[in-house]
Amino acid sequence: MMTMQESPEMAAATDSLAQEAITLAAKLLSQSLESETAEEKKDAVKLAAMMEDPAGKELTFHLTDRILRAPEPKRAAQLFRALLQSYGAPRYLSGPDRLLMKLGAEVSRFLPTVVMPAITERLRRESRKVILPAEEKELTLHIERRKAEQAQVNLNLLGEAVLSEEEANKRLEQNLSALLEKTTNYLSVKLSALFSQINLTAYEDTRRELSARLRLLYQAAQTQQPPAFVNLDMEEYRDLHLTLDVFQEVLAEPEFFKLRAGIVLQAYLPDAFPLQQELTEWAKKRVDEGGAPIKVRLVKGANLAMEKVDAELHHWELAPYDNKADVDANYKRMLHYACKPENARAVNLGVASHNLFDLSYAMVLRKKNGVENAVEIEMLEGMAAPQCPSGSRGSRQDSLLLPRGQRCRLRGRHCLPDPASGREHHRRKLPP
Ligand SMILES: Cc1cc2nc3c(=O)[nH]c(=O)nc-3n(C[C@H](O)[C@H](O)[C@H](O)COP(=O)(O)OP(=O)(O)OC[C@H]3O[C@@H](n4cnc5c(N)ncnc54)[C@H](O)[C@@H]3O)c2cc1C
Repeated sequence: MMTMQESPEMAAATDSLAQEAITLAAKLLSQSLESETAEEKKDAVKLAAMMEDPAGKELTFHLTDRILRAPEPKRAAQLFRALLQSYGAPRYLSGPDRLLMKLGAEVSRFLPTVVMPAITERLRRESRKVILPAEEKELTLHIERRKAEQAQVNLNLLGEAVLSEEEANKRLEQNLSALLEKTTNYLSVKLSALFSQINLTAYEDTRRELSARLRLLYQAAQTQQPPAFVNLDMEEYRDLHLTLDVFQEVLAEPEFFKLRAGIVLQAYLPDAFPLQQELTEWAKKRVDEGGAPIKVRLVKGANLAMEKVDAELHHWELAPYDNKADVDANYKRMLHYACKPENARAVNLGVASHNLFDLSYAMVLRKKNGVENAVEIEMLEGMAAPQCPSGSRGSRQDSLLLPRGQRCRLRGRHCLPDPASGREHHRRKLPP
């Protein structure tokens, strides 16, 4: 914790914060273990086994990502066999399951229309806690169920960058109708899913086209009362400046002056902190002039592997830091900056992590700075449900996000009992 200190007093203050965070993290962990259900325990054991099986983990990731989205059984069967051949049957599965998988691959050569739906169904069942079905009917049912539980849904269509304008338009239509039909009041999108022809050498044209599409989403968001929340997710480093430019350009338009919208910053990028400062200055001016605050979701960054490939392919310097300690230090630096009351009023913060220490650190810091209502905790539901810190430690807004499939995120379920009061905070209704 000494890396970003300017004086011994500051070092001592940060060390004491760290100590408090460690104590809180330990408390949260032990309470979560106590309140863990048998099913959650079983899931955790399975997840841990998968994490210890790198090839099995990769295979599962690709199966879920690609097979579920394969257009037809024959193509899905080819993909399935190719993946199984590359990675082998996962070690973390039971013997009978491994055997079934191999058998399925063989039979899929002759009967893809019989085997692949069965495999897809099994994949859906296995991943149902983290990825929800995209089909209209099932999604609507799910969302209605969550609404009845007073939870909010953050809709995030899964999938890689779109490759055609047809696909981009389809995604845009889906997102627009989710907002217009009020299926969700919290939508996450990424630039690469909005436009298939992102070209940084035609920067102005690309920016104009993306702005036009984001404008449609913001307009649709404003048809709800209160307006829905639209978040721009962040992916590759090369889209960072473009995403920020489009975000600021559209939000600066008079019709969106009162709209609160969000963007993600990735702390694994050394560029992220200076950009956070610029964005904060911009947002402060906006708020001083009567505009709505914006929200930044602070993450570490999920694209390290691709950034490495990109850097090696092009002989570029690696865009992210090349070690975890620097990433963690930058995360804290950005957290401290964001939690200053004068910044948090203009840039609300979502602390998105599954690192219990970082979450506890943020909770201690926001309380110390009195910015509980501007700083919320965000976790992916299904990844660490029992560890979700209770919002009652300060913020009204702590949330779980549930990827669904294509993907949606659900906010506000399975929170821990509050360590202070012992009260539970399941299924709270949370503002976006
Ligand atoms: C609600 C939610 C929303 C998210 N949205 C996004 C998003 O829009 N965009 C996005 O990119 N990510 C997103 N993420 C994922 C996030 O960026 C992290 O990848 C993930 O949360 C793991 O980080 P951690 O703090 O939970 O865990 P930790 O284990 O503390 O940190 C793991 C992270 O540290 C970094 N890291 C680890 N080893 C190295 C190394 N050797 N060199 C450099 N860096 C290293 C990586 O960023 C890695 O993901 C989101 C996460 C959550 C919970």
